[in-house]
Amino acid sequence: SSPPGGPLPAVHTHCPYCALQCGTILSERDGAVTVEPSDFPVNQGALCRKGWTAPALLDAPDRLRHPLVRRADGVLRPASWDEALDTVADRVRALQAAHGRDAVAVFGGGGLTNEKAYLLGKFARVAMGTSLIDYNGRFCMSAAAVAGTAAFGTDRGLPFPVTDLDGAQAVLLAGANIAETMPPLLRHLDRAELIVVDPRRSRTADRAKLHLSPRPGTDLALALGLLHAAVTEGLCDDAYIAERTGGFDAAWRHAAAWWPERAEEVSGVPAGRQREAVRILARARHAYVLTGRGAEQHSKGADTVAAYINLALALGLPGRAGSGYGCLTGQGNGQGGREHGQKADQLPGYRRIDDPDARAHVAAVWGVDPRSLPGPGRPAVELLQSLGTGQGPRGLLVFGSNPAVSAPHSALVGERLAAADLLVVADFVPSETTHLADVVLPVAQWAEEEGTMTNLEGRLLRRRALRPPPPGVRTDLEVLRDLAVRLGQPPGRFPVEPREVFDELGRASRGGPADYSGISHRRLDAQETLHWPCPTDEHPGTPRLFLHRFAHPDGRARFAPVEHRDAAESPSARYPLIATTGRTLAHYQSGAQTRRVPELNAGVPEPVLEIHPDTAARARLADGMLARISSARGSAVARVRTVDSLRADTVFLPFHFPGAYRANLITNPAADPRSGMPEFKVAAVRVEPATGW
Ligand code: SF4
Repeated sequence: SSPPGGPLPAVHTHCPYCALQCGTILSERDGAVTVEPSDFPVNQGALCRKGWTAPALLDAPDRLRHPLVRRADGVLRPASWDEALDTVADRVRALQAAHGRDAVAVFGGGGLTNEKAYLLGKFARVAMGTSLIDYNGRFCMSAAAVAGTAAFGTDRGLPFPVTDLDGAQAVLLAGANIAETMPPLLRHLDRAELIVVDPRRSRTADRAKLHLSPRPGTDLALALGLLHAAVTEGLCDDAYIAERTGGFDAAWRHAAAWWPERAEEVSGVPAGRQREAVRILARARHAYVLTGRGAEQHSKGADTVAAYINLALALGLPGRAGSGYGCLTGQGNGQGGREHGQKADQLPGYRRIDDPDARAHVAAVWGVDPRSLPGPGRPAVELLQSLGTGQGPRGLLVFGSNPAVSAPHSALVGERLAAADLLVVADFVPSETTHLADVVLPVAQWAEEEGTMTNLEGRLLRRRALRPPPPGVRTDLEVLRDLAVRLGQPPGRFPVEPREVFDELGRASRGGPADYSGISHRRLDAQETLHWPCPTDEHPGTPRLFLHRFAHPDGRARFAPVEHRDAAESPSARYPLIATTGRTLAHYQSGAQTRRVPELNAGVPEPVLEIHPDTAARARLADGMLARISSARGSAVARVRTVDSLRADTVFLPFHFPGAYRANLITNPAADPRSGMPEFKVAAVRVEPATGW
């Protein structure tokens, strides 16, 4: 509520949800928080309904306000901070003493601020000495990160400002339903001819000039067909390929067999449409290829994204003013979250953890011996599935994530979380993961603390506090410091002031691909527009990467020799359909936040199974019925909606819901060997009426 003396001043900040990070102005009067959009360039006065309703999160009735510890009777009950933190530290120490440093793992989130992501990585490697840290971004952007780094030498979601898209004449959107996931972005594509690749005729595809609807799991074959069409129709930019790239011949050796008619056989996308798509892109003066989760969330996700990058390179788009390739990151800090060391294989500055120079540099900033730093850990799926099995960690500390809902094969993950000797969850509202925890730590959220985020264009943003956290709640930074001290670290090694943490993060990133060392809260508060890399105080930042050279030592981008392969599982007599999963406009990620916003939850209180009318009829399903969707891993339940905007061999399920509604009860954890990305987009299923509901 407002302090004595009247309302708090309005603050300019950003939406708590997706990677677009729309600019908002928050103000408070008589205890009620209101939001309005700012004219920040990515949203230019617009918000989606999630942004408009975000203030409700601040007053969620079941907000966590004191620590909880599971007692001998098996019930989570209130505890003091000292008791909760002592319990965590004692049990971490005991597990590590008995079973080694890797007995306890850490799991982070792509919504954490840069400061939190950075301090979490440092906490895991220094205070706990565990190699086992990874985060839920493994489920979102890891495939694009691998493909982008291989192609360009470094990976920044959009290597250009969003506003560059305003001048696009043609845009290929592969697996990105931005009309629902980040609606204000559509405004930037108003003048472009849109080509949308999606098995569903999504709201985005509805606005497209051309909709390509591949069978789920065949995007790679489709992208090879598109490259084939570009080459055989003489639409490639040969001068660009010669001057700015390498590896075309090897890539073409794979693509040469993928004439569009063959790609049609596999993907179902007519060859004529493939050729038309490439012609639209090639004749545009300014064109972009943008990928999203639809291209990435496969057991061949990195290769699939690489195939789209190959197409973009063949057309001469990346690194050309007014054209390009980009990955649309998903989570609020999907970009920054992957740069500061909460990934299993990375240190701050987006450096590899097995790089001796990076280890020496970061260890010096941290004031520790580089030999004491652990090596690479395990990617998220492997980490979660090995928890409590004796073949992996025995305890897990979770910050800003809800893997009981968001991880693939979530019934198994729920069992693993429950079987762990120690599960600690820091969050600001209860979730399906806090319900399984031994200790729950209530932390500040979004508009209650300061920090920075890095949006999908690599731009640094200030998240500002409108009001302090409620009594009894601490910030994640304070929690990490308090635990680190209990684990024997000097207090000064774990600062809690966001500005101080950010300055240290900058020093740790110096010289790395994502160099933040010239960025400061002071410059951001002075309204400077700063995209990384920004290596000095005087440096203006880098809104556009690759204009003159790519980040490989020879300055050239790399084509990737990639080959199509089938999804990890195919439809069978028992499971004849393909289920694919995704997001809806009203909800965000596991729904732990948006399901608490009355306006959002009232509109979409349960998952809707989209199914073709013919498929529904064969399964004895009709609109409004509850359906059971079963895969080899388990069953989920959803309300039926028949639509003719979906292939008859495919059903669609959103993944924001808990309990028996969890779409991830059916998803396949088969992981991409290059990136660790699981196969959220293809599961063989059968559907039938749900009885007993
Ligand atoms: Fe903008 Fe994304 Fe927030 Fe919607 S959810 S208002 S698109 S930042």
